[in-house]
Amino acid sequence: MSGYSFSKVFNPEPGWYSGDFHLHSNASVDGENSTAELVELARDEGLDFLALTDHNTIDGFSDIDENINFTFIPGIEVTLSKGHFNVFGMGGWRPWMEEICVTQKALPLPDKYQEVKDLMGLIAQEGHINSINHPLLHPWEWLFKKTDLSYVHCIELWNDLYWPDNAIANPKTVDLWTGWLNAGVKVVAVGGSDYHYLPKPEKGLPGERLGQPTTYVYAEELSAIGVLDGVRRGRAVVSRGPQINLQANLEGEKFNIGDDIGEQDGEVEFTAKIDKLTEFAHAQLVRNGQIVASEQLGEAEGIVRFRVENDGSSSSWFRLDVLDDEGSALAITNPIFANYQKNENSNLWDGARS
Ligand SMILES: [Zn+2]
Ligand SMILES: [Zn+2]
Repeated sequence: MSGYSFSKVFNPEPGWYSGDFHLHSNASVDGENSTAELVELARDEGLDFLALTDHNTIDGFSDIDENINFTFIPGIEVTLSKGHFNVFGMGGWRPWMEEICVTQKALPLPDKYQEVKDLMGLIAQEGHINSINHPLLHPWEWLFKKTDLSYVHCIELWNDLYWPDNAIANPKTVDLWTGWLNAGVKVVAVGGSDYHYLPKPEKGLPGERLGQPTTYVYAEELSAIGVLDGVRRGRAVVSRGPQINLQANLEGEKFNIGDDIGEQDGEVEFTAKIDKLTEFAHAQLVRNGQIVASEQLGEAEGIVRFRVENDGSSSSWFRLDVLDDEGSALAITNPIFANYQKNENSNLWDGARS
């Protein structure tokens, strides 16, 4: 067992850190790189953290060099025949892995669980994060009926930007997530490249690139605990590159991504600062799934401001999307909420075919 510590702090400063929440090392049968090679690749991409999510195994944990100066988030891709989900945060072996870490082929749900919610509920009770992966990507879409979304903390909003079918599946997942938010289901959007190996054009294999997509997380410190705490608070932006810092200001009080403005009514000013733009783009403010304002951005970076009247009595969420000239999303924030009301009655989801 490696002496790498998942509780080590790599930077004590609060700030936005960039990383990838879904990737495979050579501990996965279909992965090729050691954890040291993954760190080199992540550094080339300018990433601050990686979540290690091998198929039904945590063997990759022991491959992490204890002296490496890089933040790994402990994870596993629970790879079941009716759907895949990542679990984040467990630093080592847990009893539920006994029935999961038996093969890396997609497993049926172990017999001891009647529904997938029984397994996800157990993991949630342990304080770990469940994140549904590529929910609408055929043939690995989420097919479980009666999934209890109260145990689902995250959704992989965008999976592997190099996989051709994700050109359709990813935007559909944005629609699914939007529908959940509108129904009172508060789930945090993250992104994952599902990296297994680099593109191999000579073999016609698209491969992946770490950080495509990137997830920016606002964390109190750069550590696995800091990043996962930021995710729990919904302080995340899923991106092809641009970094968005969205803030809301209501009568002098400032709110960040993941916050709730509360019941107060009045004019809310949203300010979005967009960095790392490499093309002309526009920003749009989305409220409860509807575009309420839009503005063109410069080529390099931009600051946009939108003013919206908030009626404190209704439940709202606001997010900012940055889109390219063709209308494809380049980055999507998690929401800032306003008097947001969760609806327990909306928590049962019957999967991709529902
Ligand atoms: Zn998967
Ligand atoms: Zn995967």
